[in-house]
Amino acid sequence: MSKYQVLLYYFYVPLEDPEGFAREHLAFCKSINLKGRILVANEGINGTLSGLTEDTEKYIAHMRADERFKDIFFKIDPAEKQAFKKMFVRPRPELVSLSLEDDINPLELTGEYLSPKEFKEAILDEDTVVIDARNDYEYDLGHFRGAVRPDIRSFRELPQWIRDNKEQFMDKRVVTYCTGGIRCEKFSGWLVREGFKDVGQLHGGIATYGRDPEVQGELWDGAMYVFDERISVPINHVNPVVVGKDWFDGTPSERYVNCANPECNRQILCSEENEAKFVRGCSHECRVHERNRYITENNLTVNEWQERIEALGEVFNTPVSQ
Ligand SMILES: [Zn+2]
Repeated sequence: MSKYQVLLYYFYVPLEDPEGFAREHLAFCKSINLKGRILVANEGINGTLSGLTEDTEKYIAHMRADERFKDIFFKIDPAEKQAFKKMFVRPRPELVSLSLEDDINPLELTGEYLSPKEFKEAILDEDTVVIDARNDYEYDLGHFRGAVRPDIRSFRELPQWIRDNKEQFMDKRVVTYCTGGIRCEKFSGWLVREGFKDVGQLHGGIATYGRDPEVQGELWDGAMYVFDERISVPINHVNPVVVGKDWFDGTPSERYVNCANPECNRQILCSEENEAKFVRGCSHECRVHERNRYITENNLTVNEWQERIEALGEVFNTPVSQ
């Protein structure tokens, strides 16, 4: 048994007083040394946590003892250490937001649940369109083979993107997937309300698909992006390939860094070598930004900075505050 575990779960269930619940729940999580992030709302709970295996087991037992949460399905990954630095439990108006005026309640309206095996069959079916319900930087690290990549950097942009591209999928069967399944609960319900006739969702998300003994993650290319310190986890245990591409030179990469310009902060894939060469800036403007964090983290002098920029064939003007 591994020393640590990472838990991922969500559950749509009516909850009263999310603020009060969050305070008590935070105290409980801290009392058993868990780290991570839990969101609570009137519509339910969504969490990802790490801790010593015995502590995560205590958490699961605690939740199962609560009538409201007894049916939660926990996705469990073994880990070597904590995947988070701190513990947060935050009350929110919604667990995930599509920025809809009239929000979707997945307990009333959602797409058909597909098991990993059914989902795999859907990927292989030529008449089915597979839509990735995640953000562009998640897709770029890994995705189901042939899946549609919505050009979005946040979930709330997804409805508009679908409306703009509707004619591509309107008459087809549509299936959708996300990390743990929570985004698809709402998104697939929204697709049904928009008039899509035949809508399916991967039950339990990619995390469940990768762990399923029958499919073992097959037809998943690349790695899965996760919102904790691990950043990426393997999914395909049959014939894994790398699909991530280095931002600078297009070579295979699964190494995410944030652009060193604090005002940009874009997530880009790149090698350590290119990170140094391009001072971790996604564009010329970011490379020469006066508050470029790569420069300060690595104690580069202005001269060294200038040399790197000029080696790229770019012009360096001495930044104001250096
Ligand atoms: Zn940038």
